[in-house]
Amino acid sequence: MTSHRSRQRLVKKLKSEGISNRLILDVISNTPRHLFVENVLSARAYDNTALPIGSGQTISQPLVVAMMTEMLIRKEGFPRKVLEIGTGCGYQTAILAQLADQVYTIERIRALAQPAMNRLYRLKYRNIQFHHGDGRLGWKEHGPYDGIIVTAGAAQVPDELVTQLATDGRLVMPVGPSGQQSLRLFIRHQEGLQSYSGCNVEFVPLLEGSE
Ligand code: SAH
Repeated sequence: MTSHRSRQRLVKKLKSEGISNRLILDVISNTPRHLFVENVLSARAYDNTALPIGSGQTISQPLVVAMMTEMLIRKEGFPRKVLEIGTGCGYQTAILAQLADQVYTIERIRALAQPAMNRLYRLKYRNIQFHHGDGRLGWKEHGPYDGIIVTAGAAQVPDELVTQLATDGRLVMPVGPSGQQSLRLFIRHQEGLQSYSGCNVEFVPLLEGSE
């Protein structure tokens, strides 16, 4: 169930749902999602579904990971520096690490941040820096970022994240009140922020502070 065949089935499903970026499909096909969930769930790792990862959180559905990654990445090239808010189990982080030069990722729950860091190190991703804390504040020291991805939902984008976005940088986040969230893409132009709406989604909430 963790075989080449089940991964190919997932990629086929993503294509049929409209994901067309070949490189993103290749990266998803090469990333061992079964190593990001508990053993008892590994048989379901290549289904197009969200799964629990402990501490009341979930690994996002592969289609949503693919859509957010497509929104984040410009057609003509890949972002050099990406900031991710909500490391969770580190699956989206692993996808980004294969597409960007450097990934900075922040998780507010220590019980998730530590295993994710160990897992990504074991899998030999060496271009990721980890931070345990409140991602709503961003990570100013390493900014500005070409891309920012938030994998938890809120009524609006935290101001501090917009501040840390480079000119022409792209920010992707689920936005809206609980039950009515949609994926949003924001592009920071010299003249201001341009916003685009994607499909409806349901994410865990972006919370204050850390634990
Ligand atoms: N991309 C993750 C999705 C995890 S769910 C994955 O593929 O596993 C969203 C994550 O965002 C949770 O782990 C949650 O703890 C984290 N989160 C919520 N609010 C946060 C905040 N303010 N700062 C950092 N992480 C946050």
